[in-house]
Amino acid sequence: MTAPYPTKLERLGDRELLIEWSDGERRRYTFRELRDRCPCATCREKKKKPQSLLPVLSAAEAQPLNILGMKPVGNYAYSINFSDGHDTGIYSFDLLRNIGAVDEPQAS
Ligand SMILES: [Zn+2]
Repeated sequence: MTAPYPTKLERLGDRELLIEWSDGERRRYTFRELRDRCPCATCREKKKKPQSLLPVLSAAEAQPLNILGMKPVGNYAYSINFSDGHDTGIYSFDLLRNIGAVDEPQAS
């Protein structure tokens, strides 16, 4: 059995991303969550440091976060280009399946 892979990426409004998977699951991700879960070495290093002081937001960080682009990496991941200038995170399908929230079909 092959691992599920994204079959469709869709932007929902200006804050969320929807991914449809090959097994039919739909998951929603806020841009902020994706950014916070960035798996690159720099971001993981940052998270280890205790944050006792309020971080000073740079001008870019104070802007509403946006996704400028997503590029497939091999056939197992996406790299995401965020509006704060960060684009080194490689989001494996495995990671993407473990974050976000399942989008329940609206009963209407
Ligand atoms: Zn990062």
